[in-house]
Amino acid sequence: MQGTTLINPGRQIDSLQSPRFSQVTTFARLAHTRRLENVRALFLGVPFDDGTTFRPGARFGPRAVREASRLLRRYNPIVETKPFEELSMVDYGDVDVVPGYIEETYARIVNTLEPILEAGIFPIACGGDHSISLGILRAASKKYGKLSLIHYDAHSDCGDIYFGKKYGHGTPFRRALEENLIDPAHSIHVGLRGSTYDESELSGLSDMGFSVISMHEYARIGHTETIKRIREKVVGPAYISLDIDGVDPAYAPGTGMPEAGGFTSREMLDLVRGLEGLPFVGFDLVEVSPLYDVAEITAVLASNLIYEFCSIVAKAGRDEII
Ligand code: MN
Ligand code: MN
Repeated sequence: MQGTTLINPGRQIDSLQSPRFSQVTTFARLAHTRRLENVRALFLGVPFDDGTTFRPGARFGPRAVREASRLLRRYNPIVETKPFEELSMVDYGDVDVVPGYIEETYARIVNTLEPILEAGIFPIACGGDHSISLGILRAASKKYGKLSLIHYDAHSDCGDIYFGKKYGHGTPFRRALEENLIDPAHSIHVGLRGSTYDESELSGLSDMGFSVISMHEYARIGHTETIKRIREKVVGPAYISLDIDGVDPAYAPGTGMPEAGGFTSREMLDLVRGLEGLPFVGFDLVEVSPLYDVAEITAVLASNLIYEFCSIVAKAGRDEII
């Protein structure tokens, strides 16, 4: 093992020298460090799943995604970039979440992200269940103001009260709206499908000012038109939140709230690639629950979706983004 590679931002352990099944697990075999000098983007695990309302286990998401990411190589031939080197990326480790205590965990997420965002570093967060996005949006909005949200998910996550409580993985984007963290006129939910609690659930989203492209509509209008509509919607600093259950359970079984009839792996990879050039300030991928995964199907896809996101951010060029 080349000792020096471990302290260089953007450098992966060389898998032609040190086999990719060896060494301590980090995202994409990048250096694990909390030093922020010369770092432009970092992987951050947020292993919290107490916002889950059905199948648990997303607290083990970051570990599984890190393991599956051992196969990521340095060059992306489709986006034509070496994302990790372009972004001088490192694995920052995980937020020290507080199991069972969501509001304390939000405070920990904000406290962890503040110095990262203050240093102009791009956070690439991996959950955890979808409740964690509210903590990240609080920190990102404090730095960048109201954000455009692109939300890929089978569910809108704009519910109000569950079990008498405000916070959970079904409510983060209604809370983000109430807290003025996101601008609904420039935000869009993509991939919604499945049964709802009542007739007004989907119309309620437009009442809140959000745009929606349901899975049903995606199937009708196709990929190119979907990307066009998303791109037209975004103005100013933008944030992507990607719930892995946006992907069909056949391609992503390792998740807590599976809904039949979703995107294929390839469609979701294209939905990320299609956003190249938009002014992103942050990203999260959530709801990977390895307890329900099979042969790492879900974790491998999640690690590749993060890779594509890193690639479009790297391609855009750091100075244009922030
Ligand atoms: Mn979700
Ligand atoms: Mn979902």
